[in-house]
Amino acid sequence: MKHALVTGGSGGIGSAVCRRLAADGCHVFIHAHRGADAAHALAEEITAQGGSAQVLIFDVTDKTATADVLKPLLEQNPIQILVNNAGIHDDAVFPGMRAEQWHSVIDVSLHGFFNVTQPLMMPMIRTRWGRIINITSVAAVAGNRGQVNYSAAKGALHSATKSLSLEVASRGITVNAVAPGIIATPMSQDTFDAPTIARLVPMKRAGQPGEVADLVSFLASGHAAYISGQVISINGGMI
Ligand code: NDP
Repeated sequence: MKHALVTGGSGGIGSAVCRRLAADGCHVFIHAHRGADAAHALAEEITAQGGSAQVLIFDVTDKTATADVLKPLLEQNPIQILVNNAGIHDDAVFPGMRAEQWHSVIDVSLHGFFNVTQPLMMPMIRTRWGRIINITSVAAVAGNRGQVNYSAAKGALHSATKSLSLEVASRGITVNAVAPGIIATPMSQDTFDAPTIARLVPMKRAGQPGEVADLVSFLASGHAAYISGQVISINGGMI
């Protein structure tokens, strides 16, 4: 049974990815930070359906706290599937963006990627099989007003995806980014009302978390062994 870690597994997209990877037969580490209750409820739901899941709690911006949780786990078993999904946005037009808004968004998405991914690498490399999937955003592909911090963080993840994929390609490890458009989760519901979605999205609807999970599931599977270093959009035709 492959071990999979989904950061932000307590959130809208992350919980759908956890459910899907568990249904695919993985032991899923559901990661949360503030949403421990949601993560435990999800673990119970997955277990009740015959799946295998466990909750991990840490702040991805805290390198030491992250390593303290991950290293003991890795001594027992390598984690071969990693979905870097934890992310926040804190929007403001650039002239008015506070330094804290800039740093906090980059801290979670980009430094979080480093803090979580690096401890997993050597154990994953030794198994000669792995999947790293970074959840980014259409904002990094096309840009978005009010999201200079967010698109910078997610765009940096696109570049990191490409470089890391080159480093590990010969070890059976693929590294890809999934760039969603507007997905129906609390994060987007605060930002986009129905008329705005109809205007921005050619398919005239938000995507469902399960649709992102289907793509992640494919990229995490053996069927996607020859896909690496790619940024794959899922956005209802936005770009
Ligand atoms: P949610 O707000 O539902 O989930 C965000 C997750 O990130 C939560 O599980 C949260 O954990 C976790 N997180 C935030 N900060 C930290 C931190 N410091 N340490 C650890 N975990 C943290 O958002 P979505 O499910 O909508 O988004 C998931 C990903 O998809 C994000 O990276 C987002 O940028 C991206 N995305 C979303 C889109 C959308 O339309 N929804 C569009 C494009 C990209 P907790 O709650 O436990 O603290």
